[in-house]
Amino acid sequence: MTATVLSGTLILPDGPLDGWLRIEDGLITDLGSGTVAGAQHTDGYLLPGLVDMHCHGGGGGAFEVGETAARRAAAFHAAHGTTTVVASLGSTTHPALLDQVRALAPLVRDQTIAGVHLEGPYLSTTRRGAHSLDHVRTPDSRELAEVLAVGGVRMVTVAPELPGAAEMIAGLPCVAALGHTDATYAQATAGIAAGATVATHLFNGMRPVHHRDGGVAVACLEDEQVTCELICDGHHVSPEMVRLAFRAAPGRVALITDACVAAGMPDGDYRVGTEPVRVVAGEVRTTDGRSLAGSGLTLLAAVTNAVRFGIALADAVHAASAVPAAALGLADRGRLAVGLRADLVVTDRALHVRRVLRQGRSAGSAA
Ligand SMILES: [Zn+2]
Repeated sequence: MTATVLSGTLILPDGPLDGWLRIEDGLITDLGSGTVAGAQHTDGYLLPGLVDMHCHGGGGGAFEVGETAARRAAAFHAAHGTTTVVASLGSTTHPALLDQVRALAPLVRDQTIAGVHLEGPYLSTTRRGAHSLDHVRTPDSRELAEVLAVGGVRMVTVAPELPGAAEMIAGLPCVAALGHTDATYAQATAGIAAGATVATHLFNGMRPVHHRDGGVAVACLEDEQVTCELICDGHHVSPEMVRLAFRAAPGRVALITDACVAAGMPDGDYRVGTEPVRVVAGEVRTTDGRSLAGSGLTLLAAVTNAVRFGIALADAVHAASAVPAAALGLADRGRLAVGLRADLVVTDRALHVRRVLRQGRSAGSAA
């Protein structure tokens, strides 16, 4: 196979570098500074392909409503620079969840998605956000085992204060995340001790930080084993809290979209799980106004927002690529480095997508 050489400003983990990289057989086989003859030059950035570890849908498709809609969602995000996406499923009945995970199995097999994230149903009723009260419930390991047996599940979010939660976390064969939780600091710390390594959308769906009890957020920011997801859309978390998270947990913040079906779609009425939602000026809320219900983000838009909020570009990109890749155990991607997958986003200087490559092949362009 012939090599492709691209040049531009490479966004490496430790900062930007004006340079080039060579792609052969879907991998990055060499890179360096300066220019080389024959390179396809971009007056813009070469970013590692973005990795979204928490995403429910986009482009009019959702991961919960069957294979065709799920493929539509994955294609929408790929065209916007997300070369690795985990399909998140909200709380629902046991039979419905089994059906949803089964429907995603072909997408796991052909690597359209990097696995399934069960966001529930073992969540706090008081911190359930847009999850239906009818469907959140206390941990049931037998029920969960049936879902896990379908295959493809990469992460499960559990509220650690619930009865049986610690045992469930300790027994998970995949990533355990703490989220939609009213846990105190001590309860959260117990969940981390049991094996949790991710905070599901830090600050959202959690007991707020209190000066006499830091709760889940502080427990997760503090612990070196925990990756903290952050929804950087300007609605879910304020700019100063984004900056605080990046300072408190350097190299451990993962930008996510938590995007719903409406991402990339016009304002209007949609459905998230069984909840009717309304999108107004890009903000997604349950129709009763009770809760935010995911976002309208693409992950590249989250990176752009983080930069606007004062995060260095390389740190924002790292938080949307290497950090989530590591949290998911995907060692073959997430950085521009020799030997890793040639997953790339080529952008202009304003971070608008020009080209997306997945394992060296075109994964679409969002003109
Ligand atoms: Zn979610």
